[in-house]
Amino acid sequence: MTLEAGYDVVVIGGGPAGSTAATCLARAGRRVVLFEREPFPRLHVGESLLPANLPLLDRIGVHPAIVERGFQVKYGATFSDQESQLEHTFYFARNKPWPYYAYQVPRAEFDTVLLDHARKQGVDVRQPATVETITLDGTGVTVSAEEHGQAVTLRARFLIDASGRDGFFASRLGRREAIPNLGKVALFAHFRGAERAPGRDEGNIRIHLFEDGWFWWIPFAGDTTSVGCVLHARTARGRGGPVEELFDEMVHRCRRVALGLGGAERITPVKRVANFSYVNRPRVGDRFLCVGDAIAFVDPIFSGGVYIAMQSAELAAEAVLPALADGRFEAARFASYERAVWRGIAPFFRMIHKYYEPAFLELFLKPRNYFGMEDAVLSVLAGGAFHRMPWRMWCGLELLFLLARVNVWVRRRAGLPVESRLEW
Ligand SMILES: Cc1cc2nc3c(=O)[nH]c(=O)nc-3n(C[C@H](O)[C@H](O)[C@H](O)COP(=O)(O)OP(=O)(O)OC[C@H]3O[C@@H](n4cnc5c(N)ncnc54)[C@H](O)[C@@H]3O)c2cc1C
Repeated sequence: MTLEAGYDVVVIGGGPAGSTAATCLARAGRRVVLFEREPFPRLHVGESLLPANLPLLDRIGVHPAIVERGFQVKYGATFSDQESQLEHTFYFARNKPWPYYAYQVPRAEFDTVLLDHARKQGVDVRQPATVETITLDGTGVTVSAEEHGQAVTLRARFLIDASGRDGFFASRLGRREAIPNLGKVALFAHFRGAERAPGRDEGNIRIHLFEDGWFWWIPFAGDTTSVGCVLHARTARGRGGPVEELFDEMVHRCRRVALGLGGAERITPVKRVANFSYVNRPRVGDRFLCVGDAIAFVDPIFSGGVYIAMQSAELAAEAVLPALADGRFEAARFASYERAVWRGIAPFFRMIHKYYEPAFLELFLKPRNYFGMEDAVLSVLAGGAFHRMPWRMWCGLELLFLLARVNVWVRRRAGLPVESRLEW
């Protein structure tokens, strides 16, 4: 075993959050070591980016490498509901602090580009290498890891937990609170030869709601499409047997997906993720903080995960750099980081919960731009919540939520269902 010293920051995890935090710190001249358990490229769920992600890719200097890959461009998001037969496509708006498009990215490729970029910025990337224990004390953090079968121990002044849903810190030294009713089970796979929309709509993410949950449909450049379903508890409960069988049954029940996959061939096994909605604690402390999914994850319906991961990582680096310069690392100085992250995540949380209420969904799928309502929704869908929200937009969102409450009453009087689908 070797004891290596002299690092400013150690990062656990080489997903979008870990790569971004490490890149920002290394570009500011800090000595950073990053541990990633998996050899890359590796399959990962979470393939649809938001427009607000693109300026961030510019800021960390990786955008040219991303453009070079020729990822599928996404100009909008199409939502449809099988029950009401309502459908609407939101196109990202122009003249915003972010572009009017984003990318659809196979994560095996995207995460590799980000981690390679971190390496090029001077980050000492250990991979495959698994962090096993951490010990925080008054002068730093000791990390023990296994790297290529060898035990490694090193010291750094600060720790960033970017371990994703594993939540390294929360699972060993804190706690994870599941969010009731959300994030039950997701099944997903990649297909070749699935239906393609014509023209600019080709790259749109499509979200199809049906009785048992909802499907995502993410077209990649070339001929591959990612298709996945998030199921309500009552559908998933007590269902044993092969995941392929359940997935095929769900495809069969969702007409739009069944039609689109008519001539397609599945080219990956069906993967399953369960219980993926939670909030972790603590998120900051003396000499550590968490970024990305290691903080929380709610629901993928608005494709916010990768952006939140990278944006929280950039904010984290901005909080850690002055701490390294001052040599002071008490938890209190990271409180404003934690607040900034929650401010960005909160509108997603609120819209996600509302989305499952028929009264809100009806308005969402028939949007009107009264008092900037549609503009406000579009901004949240683009990832704009981390930016200061203009008052007009804030009012537009509040108005939408108010109208949704009125619509509950209208629907109840008309004898239509009002129960949140989260209870299903
Ligand atoms: C069903 C589903 C669909 C989704 N769809 C979307 C979508 O369309 N768009 C979107 O933006 N987001 C989506 N997401 C969310 C997205 O997957 C995550 O938000 C995103 O990957 C978070 O990035 P991260 O860097 O925090 O974590 P991760 O990407 O999970 O990276 C964490 C890394 O840490 C490594 N690690 C863990 N423990 C250790 C250890 N002890 N030592 C060393 N390394 C370790 C892991 O190997 C992993 O590579 C979806 C999520 C789910 C569940």
